Parts: sequence; C-alpha cells; structure tokens
Amino acid sequence: MILDVKTTDKTQLIDITAKVEDAVRSEGIGEGLCMVYCPHTTGAVTINESADPSVKEDILMILNQVVPWKADYRHGEGNSPAHVKSTLVGASELVAIEGGRLVLGTWQGIFFCEFDGPRNRKVHVRFLE
Ligand code: ZN
Repeated sequence: MILDVKTTDKTQLIDITAKVEDAVRSEGIGEGLCMVYCPHTTGAVTINESADPSVKEDILMILNQVVPWKADYRHGEGNSPAHVKSTLVGASELVAIEGGRLVLGTWQGIFFCEFDGPRNRKVHVRFLE
C-alpha cells in the first residue's frame, strides 16, 4: 500500500499514524509486522512523541543545528543538508501488529519527515504476517 503525503514546509514532521492504522485495518492483519518505508532521499520516517507537537519542533530545531544549511557541500543540487538528515533519521520503521493494531506506546506516533519540501511524497506500507 502506498500513502500520499503532501508536505507544506521546507522541513516538517507529519504525523501519519492514523493513515498507517487505516492501512492495517483495511488489510485485515491480526498479528504481524508493519514496515513503513520512505523511498525519497530527502525524506525519512521516524517514531516519536505525537502528544505534544513541540517535540517535533524541537527535533527539527536540533537537526537544523546539527546539519547546517550552509557548509562546504559538494552536491550540486544544493540540498545536501536534506540528504544528510534523511540518512541520520533513516528511511523506515518496523512496528509490531497485535490484535489488529499497531503496537505503539501511549505517546508514540509515526512521522513522515520532510527535509526538502514542500513536495508530494509517497510512503510505502508493507505487511509481514
Ligand atoms: Zn539532491
């Protein structure tokens, strides 16, 4: 299954938990694994707190400090910081499914991470039973 994610900012974390849960329900998976995968070199997927929206702002703030916008980058496209952030965060997450539901902690959510937006993105969701 492929989810469409429309981003609106240069860097942004978008909570896609509900979309992934919908995918689990529509596939009728009871027990298994759910892989959430980002096929973009300037995006990523991560799991973190979804209750307090300031957490994702803090994550972006620190990523932007760790990976500066201006540096002696060689990549001619001008978006090397986005590529570096993509690698630091990672392209996928694997979540257990029990009783037809994602096994996420109370405060956890699944986020698509945009590092070179705004763009129309795809997130692949695959299941292992
Ligand atoms: Zn590039």
